[in-house]
Amino acid sequence: MEYSPSIEKLIESFEKLPSIGHKTAQRLAFYMLDQSKEEIKEFTDSIINAKNNLKLCSKCFNISDTDPCNICSNPKRDESIICVVEDVKDVIAMERTHEFNGLYHVLHGSISPMNGIGPEDIKLKELLTRLSYGNVKEIILATNPRVEGEATSIYISKLVKPFGIKVTRIARGIPIGGDLEYTDEVTLAKALEGRSEI
Ligand SMILES: [Zn+2]
Repeated sequence: MEYSPSIEKLIESFEKLPSIGHKTAQRLAFYMLDQSKEEIKEFTDSIINAKNNLKLCSKCFNISDTDPCNICSNPKRDESIICVVEDVKDVIAMERTHEFNGLYHVLHGSISPMNGIGPEDIKLKELLTRLSYGNVKEIILATNPRVEGEATSIYISKLVKPFGIKVTRIARGIPIGGDLEYTDEVTLAKALEGRSEI
């Protein structure tokens, strides 16, 4: 069956979203068309507002409505421990465990020579700058347990050693090749608890 060009375009837009196949895209498109104009405006405004208001925290590079972000500006957080993650979504995964009370550093990627991503392409320099202030006692490397995540971890541990800071890696409870983002809270909390010095 052929749809009109406007519907076709809407379906295509939904199909671009992660994990959305053609069938689901069709369902979402028709669901949207059933909504009132006000409801659709509210929905599209929420996307536009999020995009306009969110910024990177200049300290940890998490995305936030404020700079510094609510984690960096919370006086109850322990500034002496920094958990290094690849992605903003990993901060959310770690926060869900309620087991970590330190600060984060979001790398925005991992070192991957195969994909032409070198140390200078992620927020590594910025991490070293933070460490140079001298009040950090431990770095927890919570990069994903994939080849790139492991390589990034080893690279960082070598860079950080001269600072005399304890460097730990989260335990291997997370399936190899898995994502922190999709790891359940209990497994992630255990991996954090079982971290070991590298
Ligand atoms: Zn922050």
